[in-house]
Amino acid sequence: MPGVPKQPIVIIGGGISGLMAARTLVEAGEEQVVVLDKGRSGGGRLATRRIGDVAFDHGAQYFTVRTSEFMAYVEEWKKNGWVTEWFGAPHVRYRADGGMNRLTRHLAEPLDICVRVRVTSVEAEPNGWLLHWVSEEQEYVPQTYDEVMPEDIYDPGNKANIRARALIVTAPPPQALYLLKQGGVQVDEEQASKLRAVSYLPCLAALLTLDGPSAVPAPGYIRAKDPDEPVQLVVDNYQKGISAKPALTVYACGKWSRAHFAQADEDILRQLLQEAQVWRGGSAIVDAQLKRWRFSLAETVYPGRFAEVAHNAPLLVAGDSFISPKDEAQHARVESAVLSGIAAAKRLLELL
Ligand SMILES: Cc1cc2nc3c(=O)[nH]c(=O)nc-3n(C[C@H](O)[C@H](O)[C@H](O)COP(=O)(O)OP(=O)(O)OC[C@H]3O[C@@H](n4cnc5c(N)ncnc54)[C@H](O)[C@@H]3O)c2cc1C
Repeated sequence: MPGVPKQPIVIIGGGISGLMAARTLVEAGEEQVVVLDKGRSGGGRLATRRIGDVAFDHGAQYFTVRTSEFMAYVEEWKKNGWVTEWFGAPHVRYRADGGMNRLTRHLAEPLDICVRVRVTSVEAEPNGWLLHWVSEEQEYVPQTYDEVMPEDIYDPGNKANIRARALIVTAPPPQALYLLKQGGVQVDEEQASKLRAVSYLPCLAALLTLDGPSAVPAPGYIRAKDPDEPVQLVVDNYQKGISAKPALTVYACGKWSRAHFAQADEDILRQLLQEAQVWRGGSAIVDAQLKRWRFSLAETVYPGRFAEVAHNAPLLVAGDSFISPKDEAQHARVESAVLSGIAAAKRLLELL
C-alpha cells in the first residue's frame, strides 16, 4: 500500500551476532532494520569497562579465526585499524583497538540500534510479530525460560509495543525461549528440545586496578593448565594495550563460578583476590570490582547455524551457540556468533 511504511525487521540483541545479522540485511538493501538491546550500549559479551584512564576487557579477551568466511571480515577490520594480532599460533588471537567493545561500536555505526530496551515477550500476529518491552531503567524482569515469575513482570501497557515483519533473536537460547513462551508462541517440540538443550556456564570476573606493574608475563595473558583451576585466566589490560594503567581482569573457571555465584560481591572478590594474588606482583590493589556473567560460554551447543521457528512471519534464533556440525572447533566463540548472525540474515533474505 503506497504511503504506509513497512514494519521493520527487528533484531533482538546487539551483540556481535545481532550486529553482523543487521549489517548483512542492510548491505543486501533492507532499509528498515532495527536492533534492540537491553544493555547500556551494544556489544553484549564483547564488553569493556572504563574507569577514568583505566580500562578492562571483561567478556571475550580476543577472537580467533578458523574459516575463510570470517577471515574476509577480519581482513577488512584489520585494514580499518579496528583489530590487531595479539599473540598465539596456529590460531592467532586478535584484540580490538581500544577494547573489545570498540569493535562492536564500529560495527553498529551504520545501524539503527536502540539500547536500554529489554524485550519482555514476543507474540505472533497474522503478518508479523508484536514485541513488548520495558526500559532497562525500570523494574527488574525475569531473563530466562527457567525463571518464569509472571507476577513480577512490569507491564508498561499497550504503548510499549514494537511491530516487526520479521525477527531475529540473538539473545542466548534460554532467554530467547523465555520471550517466545511469554508471548505464547508455539515452537515445535523437536526444535524446542534442541533449543532447551543449549546451556551456558556462568563466569565471575574480578576487575583489579593496581598501583604498579603486575606479574603477568608478556603479552599480558596467562591461562591455567587445568580447566578446573579456580582462577582460569588473568589478563593485564595495560600490557594488552587498552589501559593507561595496570589493570587486571581475573576470570574464575565455570565450575568455581557456578559454586560461588550466589555469594555476595565482597566475598567473591576476597576469594578471587587471594587465588590470584601472585599475579599482582608487589603492587597494591587500588580498586576491585566484580562482573557476573550468567551466560558466558556455552557448555552445549545447537547443531546448526540458526534455528527457524515455523510461523506466518519469519522468526530465526541465532547467536554464538548455533554451530554448524562442520565447524572444526565445536565451541561457542566470537567466530561462531558472527557466522550464525550472517547465516540467519541470509536465510531471512530468502524467506522475505
Ligand atoms: C567471560 C567471557 C569470556 C569469553 N572469552 C572469549 C574469548 O576469549 N574468545 C572468544 O571467541 N569468545 C569468548 N567469549 C564468548 C564471546 O564473547 C561470545 O561467543 C560472543 O560475544 C557472543 O555474541 P552474541 O552476539 O552471540 O551474544 P551476546 O554478546 O551475548 O549478545 C546478545 C545480546 O542480547 C541482548 N539481550 C538479551 N536479552 C535481551 C532482551 N530480552 N531484550 C533486549 N536485548 C537482549 C544482550 O544485552 C546482549 O547484548 C567469552 C565470553 C565471556 C562472557
